[in-house]
Amino acid sequence: MKIYADNAATTKMSKTAIDTMTKYMAEVYGNPSSLHTTGQIAREVLEKARNDVAECIGAQPSEIYFTSGGSEADNQAIISAAERGARRGKKHIISTKFEHHAVLHTLEKLRKQGYEITLLDVYKEGLVRVEDVRDAIRDDTALVTVMYVNNEIGTIQPVKEIGALCREKGVLFHTDAVQAAPHIHIDVEEQNIDMLSISAHKFHGPKGVGILYAKKGIPLVNVIEGGAQEKGKRAGTENLPGIVSMAAAFKEAVQNIDRNGEYVAKLSRKLIDGLKKIPHSVLNGDPVKRLPGTVNFCFEGIEGESLLLLLDDKGIAASSGSACTSGSLDPSHVLLSLGLPHEVAHGSLRLSICEENTEEEIDYIIKAVNDVVDYLRNISPVWEDLETGKKEHII
Ligand SMILES: *Cc1c(COP(=O)(O)O)cnc(C)c1O
Repeated sequence: MKIYADNAATTKMSKTAIDTMTKYMAEVYGNPSSLHTTGQIAREVLEKARNDVAECIGAQPSEIYFTSGGSEADNQAIISAAERGARRGKKHIISTKFEHHAVLHTLEKLRKQGYEITLLDVYKEGLVRVEDVRDAIRDDTALVTVMYVNNEIGTIQPVKEIGALCREKGVLFHTDAVQAAPHIHIDVEEQNIDMLSISAHKFHGPKGVGILYAKKGIPLVNVIEGGAQEKGKRAGTENLPGIVSMAAAFKEAVQNIDRNGEYVAKLSRKLIDGLKKIPHSVLNGDPVKRLPGTVNFCFEGIEGESLLLLLDDKGIAASSGSACTSGSLDPSHVLLSLGLPHEVAHGSLRLSICEENTEEEIDYIIKAVNDVVDYLRNISPVWEDLETGKKEHII
């Protein structure tokens, strides 16, 4: 059996997305900046995609900027807000300890440039507390950036409430919504969002294309200099087939949001119930305020990497942390931010499922994880110490 359970890393493109992409690659090859008819047809297609995407998140088309993906959108949003703040003498930014590296590394760069960065705790449930945001906001705060849904543990942050607080305090609010779209219905107006990042390849669209939403009136700073595309804010000939394909995938996902959500929730309950029965295991993150599709467990006495490779041998594609941290020996910063000790955080497994998975696959995964955890514990000296009482169980 071959099972793909790593949808938080990337998804398989949908048929709609592939068909749209290949059609526009073949048929609409003009440069949207060209004045001739071939170019103008491409321009129309581009603007139609912008309208479609805007509609998916309750924005105006003029507030949508196409980027190369979630990382670029995060970089541009944060750098733009930082520079806007600096012009007003505000050089303090608030974020959280468990953001994606596209956010954390951008903030680190800004710190070196003289900005002050406050990273909020997310506690053991993996949730930002609105009171903490309120306490952290100062007169010189330029930006609050808090992710919508965490990519490793799936917890959903109180975005609307944080946005309302930021509005009240006159502080810009950005959210990395890459894992939220399109599982959660996004409405930038209703949810008080000033800037938001989205990536197509997380919802069955193509890789290398994303969206930055910036509310009217927020000045963007270019991270890529050159031509006047995207109202002069993002140079480079537009990735037209990618953009149109993204818009099609986004629309399709938004249309099916409830049906897919219910189905995945059902699979997820089964998966969590099955994995919980493994002794000395824990589901990471709040059990309720979460996206069902992202299921992250720690198993005591296990190395996440070994677990991952043995599951791969059984045909299961999963993750032991974010794609960016796998390959390094450090445990994931997200799991550490929950206060998990290093040795527990090392034994983590993320299974991220989608509407294409089946109940039969979930049964197979539960059995495979059980078998592999048993096998690894039996050959582990750490486990022996735990079982003989030389070391105490933590979970
Ligand atoms: C995948 C991801 C990103 C990066 O998006 P890319 O399109 O791969 O650059 C950013 N933030 C989160 C939360 C993600 O899951």
